[in-house]
Amino acid sequence: LASPLFADVGGDARISFEFFPPKTEKMEEALWETVRTLEPLGPRFVSVTYGAGGSTRERTHATVARIQRETSLAAAAHLTCVEATREEIDAVADEYWAAGVRHIVALRGDAPDQKAGYAPHPGGYENAAALVEGLRRRHPFEISVAAYPECHPDSADSAGDLDNLKRKMDAGATRAITQFFFEPETFFRFRDAVAAAGMDVEIVPGIMPVSNFASVKRMSAMCGTDVPAWMGRLFEGLDDHPAARQLVAATLAAELSRRLYAGGVRDFHFYTLNRAELSYAICHLLGIRPQPASKEQAA
Ligand code: FAD
Repeated sequence: LASPLFADVGGDARISFEFFPPKTEKMEEALWETVRTLEPLGPRFVSVTYGAGGSTRERTHATVARIQRETSLAAAAHLTCVEATREEIDAVADEYWAAGVRHIVALRGDAPDQKAGYAPHPGGYENAAALVEGLRRRHPFEISVAAYPECHPDSADSAGDLDNLKRKMDAGATRAITQFFFEPETFFRFRDAVAAAGMDVEIVPGIMPVSNFASVKRMSAMCGTDVPAWMGRLFEGLDDHPAARQLVAATLAAELSRRLYAGGVRDFHFYTLNRAELSYAICHLLGIRPQPASKEQAA
C-alpha cells in the first residue's frame, strides 16, 4: 500500500464483466458497443443478469446466447428461482445448455413485494443452495453464487450468512461473487471470516463504479451495503458536472481495486451497467491490456 499509486500492479489480475439485458433497440446497440470494447481485455467470463422474478427470461437468454455465439467470450447466465417452479427453471437451464452456455450464476432472487419478504414457490427451489443442487443434477454447469461481505439483509447474523454460503459451495458452486461494497476492509474482513469458517472458496469482489450516486445510494439501502459518508461528500455538487462525476467515479473504483490488489486480490468482477469506459479504465490501471481473444483464453 505504501508503493506509489499503481506501480505495484502487475497485470496479472483476472476480470469478469456483468451486463443487464437491454430493453430497447438503442440500449441493445449500446450494450453491443460495450461488449465489443471490453472483449479484447480477455475477461474470464461475462455475465448477464436476470430481471426480478424472471421478468427478463427471454431477453437474458437472447443476450447470453448472442454473446456466446457471436463473440470470443464465455457467457454466463444469471438465473433466479424466485416465483418459478422447478420445471420452469429446469427448462431455462436446458435451453442454456442447448445454446452452448456452460456457466450459470445461480441466485435466489428477491420477493416481488419486498415488505412481505421472501417465500419460496411451493413447487420451486427454496433458495440458491437448492437451485445449485438442482442445476448440478441436470447438467455439469460451472456455477457461481452470490456472497455478502456486509451480510444479506435476510440473514440473522453473519454466521448464518456464512453457513448459507457454505451450503451453496457444498451443493456444487465453484465461486462466489460479492455484492458491491465501497471500502476494501469490508472485503478483507469477509475474506478472513470465510477462511476462519474453514471454507476454501474463490471469492471475487464485485466492483461497482459509481457514477450516479443517488441511484447507487438507493440500491445500497435495499441490499444492505454501507455507503460511507466520505463518499457522499465526494459526489456533492457534481449533479450538473457529468464529466467530473465520471472522473470521481473512476478514481474511487480504481483506488478500491488497487487496494484490493495490494491485499492479494487477483480476481475482479465489474458491474458495468452496460457502459464500457469506467470498467475499461480501471482494468487498464490494473495493468490489463487488450489481447487477441479466443474462447480457450477466455475460459
Ligand atoms: P440465498 O443464498 O438463497 O440466500 C438469501 C438469504 O437467505 C441469505 O441471507 C441466507 O442466509 C438466507 N437463507 C437462505 N436459505 C436459508 C436457509 N435454509 N436457512 C436460513 N437462512 C437461509 N437478483 C436478481 O433478481 N437477478 C440477478 O441477476 C441477480 N444477480 C446478482 C448477482 C450478484 C453477484 C449478487 C451478489 C446478487 C444478485 N442478485 C440478483 C440479487 C440476489 O437475488 C438477492 O441478493 C437475493 O436477495 C438473495 O439471493 P441469493 O442467491 O444470495 O440467495
